[in-house]
Amino acid sequence: MFARPFIDSIDFAKNGGEMCGEIPLDQLPRLKDVLARTVGGLAYKLSGSCANDQYMLMLTLQGECRLSCQRCLGELVYPMNTVSHFRLLPAERLDEVNETDGVDAIEAVQQLDVLALIEDEVLLGLPFAPRHEEGICSPAINGLQQSVNPFAVLAGLKKKQ
Ligand SMILES: [Zn+2]
Repeated sequence: MFARPFIDSIDFAKNGGEMCGEIPLDQLPRLKDVLARTVGGLAYKLSGSCANDQYMLMLTLQGECRLSCQRCLGELVYPMNTVSHFRLLPAERLDEVNETDGVDAIEAVQQLDVLALIEDEVLLGLPFAPRHEEGICSPAINGLQQSVNPFAVLAGLKKKQ
């Protein structure tokens, strides 16, 4: 049984907390709709820091997600490798953070759901319309591989004669 991790966010940042582990992808229910298959897991590392009265969290994610290619509908292995920075703020100050500096603001709650935070970051990090690289797959029509109509080929040969 996988134990869902929670942290006291301010306390974790203040004490320079660190936690890491591996999360099975099938523990992330919102991700299931997006993935072709929920196999394997993601390695994560969460660390806290505190400087100049600012409480920060840093989240590193590494692993692979299996998506469906939007061209051939086949499976596509998408490498996940992200580092995210969060500033912990009370709810009423969340809009103070300018997101253009690459830092997201999250509410400094006492029971921060680490899994939900990770799931949000994975969902944000995945491409909207994933595709295999150009030239390695061909378009699918209604879920079937596109194939050449043999009668059309015959008709083309007759015209040439
Ligand atoms: Zn493809």
